[in-house]
Amino acid sequence: MTSPLSRAVVRAVDPGLLALYRDLHAHPELSGREGGTASCLAEALAAAGCAVHRGIGGHGLAGVLENAGGPTLLVRADMDALPILEETGLPYASHATGIDPSGNEVPVMHACGHDLHMAALVGLARTMRSLRDRWRGRIVLVGQPSEERVSGAAAMVRDGLYDRVGRPDWAMAFHVAPEHPEGRVLFTEGVASAGAESVDVVVRGVGGHAAHPDQTCDPVLLAAQTVVALQGLVSRELDPQEFGVLTVASVHGGTKHNAIPDEVRLGINIRFFDDAVRDRLLSGIGRVAVGQARSAGVPPDLDPVVSLIDESALPLRNDPGLVCRVREAVLAVLGHDRVGGLGPSSGSEDFGAFAEVDPPVPLCYFRVGTGSGRLHSPTFAPDPGSVLTAAVTALGAAALDLLRPPD
Ligand SMILES: [Zn+2]
Ligand SMILES: [Zn+2]
Repeated sequence: MTSPLSRAVVRAVDPGLLALYRDLHAHPELSGREGGTASCLAEALAAAGCAVHRGIGGHGLAGVLENAGGPTLLVRADMDALPILEETGLPYASHATGIDPSGNEVPVMHACGHDLHMAALVGLARTMRSLRDRWRGRIVLVGQPSEERVSGAAAMVRDGLYDRVGRPDWAMAFHVAPEHPEGRVLFTEGVASAGAESVDVVVRGVGGHAAHPDQTCDPVLLAAQTVVALQGLVSRELDPQEFGVLTVASVHGGTKHNAIPDEVRLGINIRFFDDAVRDRLLSGIGRVAVGQARSAGVPPDLDPVVSLIDESALPLRNDPGLVCRVREAVLAVLGHDRVGGLGPSSGSEDFGAFAEVDPPVPLCYFRVGTGSGRLHSPTFAPDPGSVLTAAVTALGAAALDLLRPPD
C-alpha cells in the first residue's frame, strides 16, 4: 500500500502514538470520572493541531481541525473504563483504582477498548493534518465520557456541543470487536446496536417466621414465579420475526434462613431494535408483575412497584447511504479481504445520541476486529499496532472521501 493515505497513517501510528495508547491503558478512569483521561487526550489533540474545547457534558471534549470552508465531520471516541481487575500481565497493565457510584474503591481497567478508540482519534488528527491539501472543511474529534453508562453522548449534545463546534453533516465512530479477525473493518446498514432499558421491580408481600408460611404472603416464592412468568413475554408474546431480549439479572431479598422477608427486588434489562417492542415489553413487565401478585393473593395495596431506571439507550441507527459511501471509500484502500458486513448487535451504545437533533445527523458506526479475547474481560489484551493502523486508515479514508475538495 503506497497511497498518500497509507503513508500518512504509517507516519501517524508511530512509537509516540503507541506510547500514548499504553499511557491511556495504564491510567483508566470510571464513567463520569474521566478528568485525567480527558486532559491527556486534549493535550494529544492540541499537539496534533486541534483547537480543543473542554468540559462539555462533564469531562467531554472536542478538538476541531479547520481547513478552509466546507462540511463538518464529527468523529467520536469514548473515554471511560470499567470496574474490572486487570489480569493481562502486560507491562503497561492498569493498577488503577476508582470510586464507584456506591462509594466503594474498585479496580479499574480499559476492558472495552476505549483506549484504542482514543488513540485512533489522535492518529486520525495527525493523519488529516498531514494531508491538509486533500480535504476541505472541519473535523470535530470528540472525546465522550460515560459511554458505559450510556449517558455521555446525550449529556454532550444537551450541554451545547453543536453550539460550540457547529452541527456536523455526518458523525462517525468505531468500536473494537474481538470476535472478528485483527484489522478487519465491518459495516452494518440500518440498526447497528440495540436499544436498552433497565427496570426495577419491588415484589412486596407480608414477612414472618419461616415455620409459619401460612401466616405470611411470601414474596420470595412470588418473585420466583414472576421471574419465570416474565420469560413468556419474549417467547410467547413477541412476533418471532421481531428482536427482543428480557433478562432478570439480579434478585435480592431476605436476610436469614428462618425469616420470610417483606419484599424482594428484581433488576431487569430489556433489549430491542424497535420502539414498539420496547413499549410492549415494558407494559408486559408491569402487567405480569401485578398479575402474579394478584394470583398469589397479595392485597392490592401491596402491588409490586415497577420503576424505569435512568439508564436507557436508543437503538443506534446507521444511515444506509452514508454507510455505503464510507464502505466504498474504505474498500478502495483496504481491499475486499479486510472489509466485511455485520448484522445488528444486541449490545447497546449511546453514540446514537449524536444524531438526536432536527434534522438528525446521519451516522456511521462500524467495527474493527482485534482477533482475540472478549470485551469486558480481565484478560482483554489486543495488539494495538495493527488495530490502530486499520482503524486510522478506515477513518482517514472516510474523512478524505466526505471532505473531498470541489474540483
Ligand atoms: Zn463496554
Ligand atoms: Zn465499549
